Amino acid sequence: MIVKTDAIVLRSMKYGETSKILTLYTREFGRMSVIVKGARGAKSKFGAALDVMSHSSVVMYKKDQRELQLLTQADLLDQYRGIIDHPDRLMYGFALLEFLSATVNGEEAHEELYAVLEHSLLALNAPDARPPAVLLHYLLRLIHALGLGIDVQHCVRCRADFGEESTLQKHAAFSDARGGFTCAQCPPAPDSLRTSVETVGILRWLDTHAVDQSARLAVSDRAAKEGMNLLQRHLSSHVPEMRKVKSLSMLDLFS
Ligand SMILES: [Zn+2]
Repeated sequence: MIVKTDAIVLRSMKYGETSKILTLYTREFGRMSVIVKGARGAKSKFGAALDVMSHSSVVMYKKDQRELQLLTQADLLDQYRGIIDHPDRLMYGFALLEFLSATVNGEEAHEELYAVLEHSLLALNAPDARPPAVLLHYLLRLIHALGLGIDVQHCVRCRADFGEESTLQKHAAFSDARGGFTCAQCPPAPDSLRTSVETVGILRWLDTHAVDQSARLAVSDRAAKEGMNLLQRHLSSHVPEMRKVKSLSMLDLFS
């Protein structure tokens, strides 16, 4: 069956003399592995459409029982030059791809996940984007899209709203098992991670704003590290593959 879909290139690997094997995240079929014959020849017709991170419209010959599908055509929709031409942003772009890759296994479409990735890449591509804010927003959205239950707005024990004054004092405590923070009046859960009130405030704000607004939020290095650390920890406690995500440790190079 010949199918056409939008796709984002997650990984690329040389194969044989002139071919490539790619991992794609597609809008219609979820994650797929494809072989592209002649992708590396001097006269390759694909251009940047098969580069890692490129957003392309692809045509393939798809057989249900086959693990590796045959890609025959790819037209570039967006290369995200605002990301790939800037080394500090590129690392964040790779982090977006790597987290998604760890999240999805076999072929299964997930419109919301696809939209989260597409919109975050687009936001990171904007000249005024602040990469740490984009990544924090993305991780929150990923957790929501996967249904991994996180609430950054209320105390996980007594449901007090963190928007009210004095519900948080010097520190908050984040629990993976409970998927959120405890307030100043409640005892922290045994698995808690101490978190600054600044970080809770930033996560609360990002949680209620769209990605294009969130992308412009200035986030301190400390809040960025704390926030990424606890969101990755929460993801890892539900999705074991997340523990292998290396991008975040590489981001330290730029802090
Ligand atoms: Zn409480």
